[in-house]
Amino acid sequence: MARTRVLSVASEVYPIVKTGGLADVTGALPGALARERIDVSTLLPGYRSVLASVSGAETVLALDDLFGGPARVLATNVAGLALFVLDAPHLYDRAGGPYAGPDGNDWADNAFRFAALSRVGAQIATGAIQNFRPDLVHVHDWQAGLVPAYLRYGGQSAPATIMTVHNLAFAGRFSPRLLPALGFPPQAYSIDGLEYHGDISFLKGGLFFADRVTTVSPTYALEVTTPERGMGFDGLLRARGSRFSGILNGIDDEVWDPALDPYITANFDEERLAARVRNTAALRKRFALDDEPARLLVGIVSRLSWQKGLDLLLDALPSLIGRGVQFVVLGAGDAGLEAGFTAAVAAHRGRIGVYIGYDEAVAHLIQAGAGVVLVPSRFEPCGLTQLCALRYGAIPVVSRVGGLADTVIDANEMALVAGVATGVQFSPPDREGLDLSILRAEALFARPEVWQRMQQNGMRTDVSWNRSGSQYARLYREALSSR
Ligand code: ADP
Repeated sequence: MARTRVLSVASEVYPIVKTGGLADVTGALPGALARERIDVSTLLPGYRSVLASVSGAETVLALDDLFGGPARVLATNVAGLALFVLDAPHLYDRAGGPYAGPDGNDWADNAFRFAALSRVGAQIATGAIQNFRPDLVHVHDWQAGLVPAYLRYGGQSAPATIMTVHNLAFAGRFSPRLLPALGFPPQAYSIDGLEYHGDISFLKGGLFFADRVTTVSPTYALEVTTPERGMGFDGLLRARGSRFSGILNGIDDEVWDPALDPYITANFDEERLAARVRNTAALRKRFALDDEPARLLVGIVSRLSWQKGLDLLLDALPSLIGRGVQFVVLGAGDAGLEAGFTAAVAAHRGRIGVYIGYDEAVAHLIQAGAGVVLVPSRFEPCGLTQLCALRYGAIPVVSRVGGLADTVIDANEMALVAGVATGVQFSPPDREGLDLSILRAEALFARPEVWQRMQQNGMRTDVSWNRSGSQYARLYREALSSR
């Protein structure tokens, strides 16, 4: 059987540029698909940091004018990934993040920055690069959402398209006045086009025009077909019927391998769990917590945003700490939450430690040392931290939403009797639910044999990309054969 050639289009790819789970997925999926005889090349924007990490690249496409300046596409290989880097200095060569400047505000020209990514993606899809004609294009999130729309309005024969939405909360919403400048005809501003509640949505370009749409867990795929959770896209997603589905994310089991992890104090696996306590001790020390091994240590690794429900934790914190629970928090985001956690450290010295920022090494140590990893999200498309927790013998305590509902087996009495429990779920995501779930975790922690069995169940769960990789491969084949 011939190999299938896929163009992936995304605004971030691990390990080259990452702000969240999207990068983990776009970085890991190509490796999993290679085992399925699928070759993926990924187009990403040439942010300053990306160009700095790319060497020996070859120019494979030159454009005189891409929304106000010249651009070129560079082909290169980084960390085993085949990449097309869109070098457009007027759009990407600046200090700051992929989406926002150093002041934290979104770049004012984001519509053009990501329309450019999509437009060039559509050009490559239709053969603009010599000797590279993909069978299928897989686009991720709103930043690449216009690819299927450009293909549709371009009128040329186009390859099959898949859109994966990692978080429906980001619609890529802009004024319809931009449509002509973005290169779309007036009829694109319609319900059967890019129109979204009086504006245009880049995400909708993918949700509406892609042959298949996926999101990152089966439960989230169901949730977003309801008006409560659908962010205004629920009707469209219901209409897409069986062409819309959920495929769980995995994690990179080489990056996340407690037996070999270089970031942690003591390596371990499910047969050598005893060594894990050294990571717990190191974590307490790192965060200046009281050295009291009998206390449950709860870890958090998260963006600090409303979605993640960490304001609920702040509310519950005094009573939890009063019961003797300890906390370590690694995260960055909303100023109010950052300030809240920083203040908690001053109020409860030795009981909670906080690191405001982004740090891979600390994230790994938390997974390896915390007793519980808490994920109290209000909604969660998939979630990766609870998968890392499973692999590292930390018990995930999660709200029962989206991918959290799909990946953690709640330690109810029957699950314990059957010996299949891996964590604790609570619902709804509110303060009382969170408080009670930690109480349940404390009770389980007080039963070392039960606790260890849960740790081992989690560590034996396949959270790698293998299963999801074959599901994407099957979806690709369906999309190709139904053309
Ligand atoms: P989201 O993409 O919504 O932020 P996910 O759980 O899907 O949430 O993915 C988050 C990823 O980013 C995980 O790999 C997690 O370990 C990592 N992460 C989040 N915050 C931090 C941080 N402050 N430092 C290090 N890693 C982080």
